[in-house]
Amino acid sequence: MSTYKLVCPHCKSRMRIRTSEGRHIFLRVAYLQCTTEACGWSVRAEFEMTHELSPSGMPDPAVRLPCAGGELRQAALRAEPAPSSSLSEKRGVRRKGNAASASPAPQLNKA
Ligand SMILES: [Zn+2]
Repeated sequence: MSTYKLVCPHCKSRMRIRTSEGRHIFLRVAYLQCTTEACGWSVRAEFEMTHELSPSGMPDPAVRLPCAGGELRQAALRAEPAPSSSLSEKRGVRRKGNAASASPAPQLNKA
């Protein structure tokens, strides 16, 4: 189970990812559910890789994203790092905009 810092907009509890599926090399669709039983809100979400912050050391020429500009790089530096437990969660979903330069290369399941 992964929780990240996804907050239920209704009750402000954490949300967990129930399941996710790859739609594209840069896009995963996830189904989230609020962890508070009394709330139980569930929702569809999308996690998309949008901009390259630093180049791959093992580049695949087919993988091309626009390079992040200065503003996006600053935002990446300000973003809080994900808890280490979420980096090892098995579904391989990455939170949008949370790719710090210290993170390992993104892994997308080839689903
Ligand atoms: Zn809730």
